[in-house]
Amino acid sequence: MADQLAPKHTFIVEHLDPELEEWQALEYRTIHQECHDSGSHFIISGLTDSNGAQQRLGLPANSLQQQSVEKMYPTPEARQKVCLLDPKGEKDICPEDGELFDVFLFGGILGDDPPRDRTGELRSKGFVGRRLGPEQMTTDTAARVTRIVVQQNKRLSEIPYVDRPDIQLPAADGESAPNPNESVSMPFKYVKGEDGQPVMPNGMVKLLVADMDKGIEDLL
Ligand code: SAM
Repeated sequence: MADQLAPKHTFIVEHLDPELEEWQALEYRTIHQECHDSGSHFIISGLTDSNGAQQRLGLPANSLQQQSVEKMYPTPEARQKVCLLDPKGEKDICPEDGELFDVFLFGGILGDDPPRDRTGELRSKGFVGRRLGPEQMTTDTAARVTRIVVQQNKRLSEIPYVDRPDIQLPAADGESAPNPNESVSMPFKYVKGEDGQPVMPNGMVKLLVADMDKGIEDLL
């Protein structure tokens, strides 16, 4: 964990989907780990069953809340310190926003293609919005990019990305050679890792293989 006494920023994901899908569980665990490593506080709010979610996710109880973000920040004054990462935000996020806001808020929504603007549910509560560029990102990527901008002081244009990557799937038994015809096109923009590959939660490719029969459209 970063060497600091109190977390400078809190990252909140308001869980907006009716279920907690395995894809989301992977994303939430990843955001938790990366927030921990960077000395940020992480909360998942709006959970209908926070005890069940704790067992499922294996995250500390103080990171999981049934209360909605609306109740946590009930007044317009309190909401001014909360930045909603909003694909329809009028301004793109910039490093200076790290000083302006204490809290960065994300929609806990599985991506859809084309996007259905469910982030609008949070926008309507009066949080200040910032965009991460025009392309849709997964929630963990959105949190990663926000952290790079507001904590590592990089501009959005300085971050390397991979847009809509084709993910080559290994054979289902995990041992045979990968079939070059088995790949999935992911309709999102990802941070490019040092190995040139899109940064994704551990276990995501395995889940893609397991869910291959359902087809990507059913999973988004
Ligand atoms: N299709 C979705 C919708 O209906 O709004 C987008 C959901 S996205 C998978 C999950 C969350 O990541 C969003 O609610 C938002 O907080 C954040 N996010 C993703 N891409 C973003 C972008 N380009 N700009 C700002 N926030 C973004």
